[in-house]
Order: sequence, then C-alpha cells, then structure tokens
Amino acid sequence: MTDSNAIHAAQDLFVATPDGPRLLGSRCATCRAPYFPASEACHNPDCQHSDIQPAHFGPNGTLWSVTLQNYPPPPPVVAPEPYRPYAVGLVDLEADGIRVIGRLQVEDPESVPVGGPVEMVIASLGHQEDGQEVVSWQFKPC
Ligand SMILES: [Zn+2]
Repeated sequence: MTDSNAIHAAQDLFVATPDGPRLLGSRCATCRAPYFPASEACHNPDCQHSDIQPAHFGPNGTLWSVTLQNYPPPPPVVAPEPYRPYAVGLVDLEADGIRVIGRLQVEDPESVPVGGPVEMVIASLGHQEDGQEVVSWQFKPC
C-alpha cells in the first residue's frame, strides 16, 4: 500500500484506475501503433494518416527479460542505505503490443521467472528526506 499523497516519480506516465494501474500512452487510430510515453504523431512509415488517441496500457504482461540494478539510480528514486541491488524487467504487454521497463517486486532478484506472467502495480520507490513517498509503476509475478 502506498501513501495517497505520494509523489509520482514521473508525471503523466501512469494512473491508478478502479481496475488497477495503467500506463498513459497513445495509439494511432489508423494503423493501431501503440506509443509509450504518449506520442503526438504516428511514427509508422507505412501509416497513411496519423490519428493519435490517448490509450491506457497494462496491467498484465509477460516478463521478457531481466537485469539487476547494481548501483543506486539517480533521483527521484530514493535508495535506502545500505543499497541492495534490485531486479528491473522488460515486460511484454502482449495485449497492447508494447514492451516496457519496470522495477520488479521480488524478494530474490537472482531468481526472477523470465517468461512468467507479471502484473503492474503502483509501489513505493522510497521516501525523500522530507518524508514524502515517491511511487512509480512496477511489476510483480502473478
Ligand atoms: Zn499510424
């Protein structure tokens, strides 16, 4: 559970909905090309008419690849001391036609089930010095 007053690590990239978290992207209504972050124009060279509409992506996907964040990332992430490496996944959101990167919520970053199902959650990245919680989208095995 996250603080309802928590700061989003990035503005206009994700939202909590009654059906769970979603990424805020866009999709071309002509050729169906998805964009995350949202694009104002279609970049498909075969598309005859750019018609960009807002789109929500997620929450279900498949873990396509994983790596370890072996050093503290820059703000807005708040790295606790002592720093513990964590897993970062490239997640295939098959239903949306995109792959996105997100932190993985797993106890042991060395034993992440690549190829397994994951779901998007909004979770804490830590607390700033002023006590304000910072949150972002993340993925957890399901
Ligand atoms: Zn298009």
